Parts: sequence; C-alpha cells; structure tokens
Amino acid sequence: MTIRVIIAGFKGKMGQAAYQMVSEDASLTLAGLLDPFATEKEIDGVPVFNKKEDLIGLEADVWVDFTMPKVAYENTRFALENGFAPVVGTTGFTPEQIEELTDLSVEASLGGLIAPNFAIGAVLLMQFAAKAAQYFPDVEIIELHHDKKKDAPSGTAIKTAELIRETRASKHQGVADEEELLKGARGAEFDGFRIHSVRLPGLVAHQEVLFGAEGEGLTLRHDSYDRVSFMGGVNHAIKEVVKRNQLVYGLENLL
Ligand code: NAP
Repeated sequence: MTIRVIIAGFKGKMGQAAYQMVSEDASLTLAGLLDPFATEKEIDGVPVFNKKEDLIGLEADVWVDFTMPKVAYENTRFALENGFAPVVGTTGFTPEQIEELTDLSVEASLGGLIAPNFAIGAVLLMQFAAKAAQYFPDVEIIELHHDKKKDAPSGTAIKTAELIRETRASKHQGVADEEELLKGARGAEFDGFRIHSVRLPGLVAHQEVLFGAEGEGLTLRHDSYDRVSFMGGVNHAIKEVVKRNQLVYGLENLL
C-alpha cells in the first residue's frame, strides 16, 4: 500500500526537493500540492490547491510542510484536524505551539513530526554537542544560512541550545561588565550562552558549536551543501509517522 502525501509549499526550495523525492519513491504517491500563488490546476495528474481549506476531504495520509514560519503552525493544526499526519520542516515554532500540537495529535491519534533539521549529520551534531556540554560548559553556537532565510536564529540552533541546556551546568559566560560597542555584537543570549546568525548568498545550512576550556577548544561543524541532504530524513519520517499516534519534535525521536 502506498502512502499518499500532500506537499505544502511545493514551489519553494525545500518543497521542490520534497516533490522530487516523493515522485521518485514507488512506495509514496503525491496526493495534492499546495501553494497560495500556484497557477496550475494540476501537475502530472496531481491536483494543485491555493487554499488549505480546499484539501478538506482529500484522500491523503501525510502532510509535508516546507512553507513559512508565519503559516506553519496553522497548517500543522489544520493537518491534524483533518486526518493528515504532519511532517513539518518549517521552522519558527514556539515551545507552547509544539506542546499544543502534540496534545492535539494525541487527541486525533495521529503521528507527526516537527523537525528543525532533517539531515542526519545535523541530528548527530546536536547529540554530540549535548554530550560535549557536560564537560565544556563554555559554548557558543554559530549558524550560517543562505540570505533568503526568514527566521533567526535557525530552528536547528534553537534545538541545539535546548539540548545543551539539558546537560550543561548553568552559567553566565563572559565578564559581568561586558559592553557591546555595537548592538548585537555578542549575538542572542540563551541560558547564559550566545547564538550567532550569519546570512550570506551561496550558503545552504551550516552550524558550528564551539566549546572552550582552559588551554583547549573543541569545534563541531555540520554542513548541508545541498537540499538533497534533508530528503533521506523526510522520506524516513513520512514512513514512520503513519505508524505512530503522537507528534514528536526532532528527527532523533523517529530514528
Ligand atoms: P522558500 O523557498 O521560501 O519556500 C517556501 C514556500 O512556501 C514558498 O514557495 C511560498 O510561496 C510557500 N508558501 C507560503 N505561504 C504558504 C502557505 N500558506 N501554504 C503553502 N505554501 C506557502 O523556503 P525554503 O528554503 O524552501 O524553506 C522553507 C522552510 O523550511 C523554512 O522555514 C526553512 O527554515 C525550513 N527548512 C527546514 C529544513 C529542515 O531540515 N527542517 C531545511 C531547510 C529549510 P511564495 O514564495 O509564493 O510565498
């Protein structure tokens, strides 16, 4: 039996990569495509929609979402309310929204995933960073993305910081009388350490986690050079969420 997939944001950079990946997997079928400005009515026999409400009643199993931070929460809610298991790569969710959507998934008895990063290397980097933070409480995160990215810091950086917070002995880094001569020079503060966001054309998605201690340093780095790096994770998630009955946050929970 094939898994029927909707792709929300199919005209975007990630949406196009997801469209390609689903089209090439014989165990998956494209059931519908959503983009507010699409002019096509169908593509290769797959119906195209401009409004999510027009997907009510569509025979589909999974809602893949690569849209924009400002619509992803409403989209995920909509998917859960209409029987589609969400696989969401769009970033920008608040912890409260994730909690609310998890509760909703339990009520609906639907699996789902919100993943700030679908690349296996990035998932491993987050786990290594949490491990290292046990021994190196002095840490800074630098995330680097293409210059069209709308949210900062990245969802991956926030998730990495949350995992580090769980293992790191709480401390406020830097001197108490530190002064920023240019506002923002020290980046965003998260639980006493800093996150820096770089935006440049040519980049895709990259992250460094730098640890420092007396006389030594440790740097972890992950690079997504191409959006294809995310598609193995998206493919795996589509096949997992249909077997589950609760939404989870982070691909590591489905591996
Ligand atoms: P993008 O190229 O700007 O694509 C977003 C697409 O969503 C655009 O085509 C946009 O259409 C469309 N869209 C806007 N509102 C919509 C709605 N209400 N319903 C359906 N589609 C809508 O961005 P991207 O680079 O593909 O990234 C998309 C998201 O994925 C971002 O949040 C990014 O941070 C995230 N991301 C996640 C991962 C991961 O591994 N989890 C990796 C990379 C990126 P218009 O342009 O016509 O407005």
